[in-house]
Amino acid sequence: MGKVSIGLRGWRFDEEAVFAADGTVKPLANMNADARERIVRLSAMIGDPCDACYLRHGDEDIERCNPARAIYGEPLGEVLLCDDHEADFVYWFQEEGGKRLAGERELQSRFHEWFADGGRSPEGFELEHVEEDPGDVPEAPDPDEELPGLEAELEQMDEDELDALDLDIDDLDFE
Ligand SMILES: [Zn+2]
Repeated sequence: MGKVSIGLRGWRFDEEAVFAADGTVKPLANMNADARERIVRLSAMIGDPCDACYLRHGDEDIERCNPARAIYGEPLGEVLLCDDHEADFVYWFQEEGGKRLAGERELQSRFHEWFADGGRSPEGFELEHVEEDPGDVPEAPDPDEELPGLEAELEQMDEDELDALDLDIDDLDFE
């Protein structure tokens, strides 16, 4: 059974836990709670800009933000990063105390604070993408292509069904 990244590097899923044999996304009710929460969050965030770019440029200069290529952290405390800024996050995580927040949603705000204060990885700091083939992850991920069938399923569910799955979808916006 393979582990896959979907749309963005970072989060890994058991292929069988997420996809049916025909390659479509399994019904959410058939996934375990952790996979379900991450898939729904991921579907909302594929195509969003990098957090670090956004901290630099903001809404007024949104077109200067790179699309995120990687996702770290926990659902609702995610950090989205482009290729340029992933090294800053990994450096912060490994060398600047970020690791102590592994598994905490607070990881997101603490990284944002560090980056906004001018925190950057030093010259020459390199990422090791050891276990992943960069070819795995598409250049410009499209949620509908990466998670076929999921958007339609979410649109068809009413509030009660979503509540029953214990999903926090306040932040979901499909465009
Ligand atoms: Zn960036």
